[in-house]
Amino acid sequence: MPTNAILTALQRKTDTQRIQLRVGRIWEAINRNNKTVLHTNVEFMDQQGGHILAIIRNNQRTLIMPQLKEQSVYDISNFKIVPGPSTYRSVDMDMAINFFYKTTIQEAEDNNSIPHYKFELQPFHRVKDLVGRVKNLIDVIGMVTTIGRLEKRSNGVEKLDVALTDDRLVAAFNYSLLATVCNPNQKSVSVSGGSRQQRTITTLCSHYWTPGKKILDKASLSSTDATKTFFNIEYEPLNDLKKSLSDSSGSNGARLLPPATVHFVATDEKDVQQIHIKDVLEMKIPSGKDQVRCLCTATITEILYGNGWLYNCCSICARAVHPTEGKYYCNACNDTNFTVSQRYRVVARIKDDTGTTTVTLFNKEAEQLIGVPIQKIITEMGEPSHMDKIPAPVANLIGKLCAFQIKINNYNITHGCEEYTVTRVSECSAAGTKSPNTVDAAQKNKKNRLE
Ligand SMILES: [Zn+2]
Repeated sequence: MPTNAILTALQRKTDTQRIQLRVGRIWEAINRNNKTVLHTNVEFMDQQGGHILAIIRNNQRTLIMPQLKEQSVYDISNFKIVPGPSTYRSVDMDMAINFFYKTTIQEAEDNNSIPHYKFELQPFHRVKDLVGRVKNLIDVIGMVTTIGRLEKRSNGVEKLDVALTDDRLVAAFNYSLLATVCNPNQKSVSVSGGSRQQRTITTLCSHYWTPGKKILDKASLSSTDATKTFFNIEYEPLNDLKKSLSDSSGSNGARLLPPATVHFVATDEKDVQQIHIKDVLEMKIPSGKDQVRCLCTATITEILYGNGWLYNCCSICARAVHPTEGKYYCNACNDTNFTVSQRYRVVARIKDDTGTTTVTLFNKEAEQLIGVPIQKIITEMGEPSHMDKIPAPVANLIGKLCAFQIKINNYNITHGCEEYTVTRVSECSAAGTKSPNTVDAAQKNKKNRLE
């Protein structure tokens, strides 16, 4: 007897049943260390609104994968029900489907009786309670409000931040989430909601994981191999969200705006002001706050030499360590039992139309701009005596126009210390990162010249 329900198949526990299923998504699980395929995942959906995962091992791949296409419907006979993954589940089920030599897969006519999509949606306000829980990946649905610039790490990984809102009551609540789409397999990352002309740009992201850090009340989502983003699909909850977003902004007298492109996406982005260097130098920290973050667009004019371009740190806590009597001791770890490694600390003079100041780029931000891991430079420099020279890849920062998000604290002001820590950086002149605003500005300049 053929069945149309995954649940029935699970209860029967025999290898000889037949079931009609639609393939939802197909994706490969990748070993991040050596970029090899661990196995292939296939999500199947049934007529009852259920879904289940099938794991295709590498030795079955050439036989089975050519027979399966996303969104197509199949009659599948003779399969096994086996334990599913216990963590990072994309489908919240204890069991999974397994194919074996007796399995037959036959494409069936699609009469649309099986839904096209199935997600286990989490509302945004619930996501913060899921931080650090690794059992299930998270599905969310929301509208893209801002898109960051594509960041490229020196290991080739591309990263893009996107802010989402599921704000159903615009005036009363503001639930928004930050999602990071990371591409460990070095294919290009793309998140766009279609053309900027579109008034409502809605997205649906699925299968994110919240990493184990929670900043204040906000949690952010990180992509995994299993992450796939769907835009404007025919999916009832998405249509409902579109309608409620459109209605609530309409009743506010505003219309929905297309997503904006910004340098750095954060859910508290409104707190970070774009200012000139002159304003940085004259900044006063509001009482009750111990620091101010701001955004400055400036050109690097010089790499300062004083304290070198790197520091020695404790391999355990990454804090700076200094040798005493030839031995390194870490005050933070209260120990000598660690290896000393090096991290970037690049002090750069930056300049805009209003003035000049200095900023410090620590490891992550420095590496992002330099584009080379520090260990590679150290190896290439060879002799330790060369370490007091500024290596070419670091000197090459001179001339770069960047957006710097910097931190101004009381120490900067009370000690007259003009060495602001860069908390985020993005290169403005990098190819493919031109924002629509830059285009607008360029056109405006052209127009001004013509007039
Ligand atoms: Zn330490």
